[in-house]
Amino acid sequence: MRYDEEMGEALALARRAAAAGDVPVGALVIDTATGTVIGRGCNTREVDGDPLAHAEIIAMREAAESRGDWNLADCTLVVTLEPCPMCAGACLQTRIGTIVFGAWDAKLGACGSIWDIPRDPHVGHEPEVHGGVRESECAALLAAFFAAKR
Ligand SMILES: [Zn+2]
Repeated sequence: MRYDEEMGEALALARRAAAAGDVPVGALVIDTATGTVIGRGCNTREVDGDPLAHAEIIAMREAAESRGDWNLADCTLVVTLEPCPMCAGACLQTRIGTIVFGAWDAKLGACGSIWDIPRDPHVGHEPEVHGGVRESECAALLAAFFAAKR
């Protein structure tokens, strides 16, 4: 399936977060035309003590920095968990062209589950959204992390 390989790399980043005690979410930003990875991130809330340090934000910042341009319209965000409202909002700010995610988030999902920020009619730009890529692996990683915490 499309984006399977990229999701594999995002999963590896998510495992890195879990190893550091953070919720296992990993993200990549890819140049859509070439497939080159230009940003990587994983949750670092615990490690950095930063409540806003979500994988998507870190990956998009790195991508913008590497390009010297904040506009990521020709880029694709690949993330293991459906973006939350903050990250979906950040996707609007970067004008990311495509959002690909793994597991759906029934509590805080903002790309179709609870809210649908990218496709809100008030928003002028509309990224393409693909959910459920390697969904079971992404969800299993999160489930295992939270089971171990209990
Ligand atoms: Zn988020």
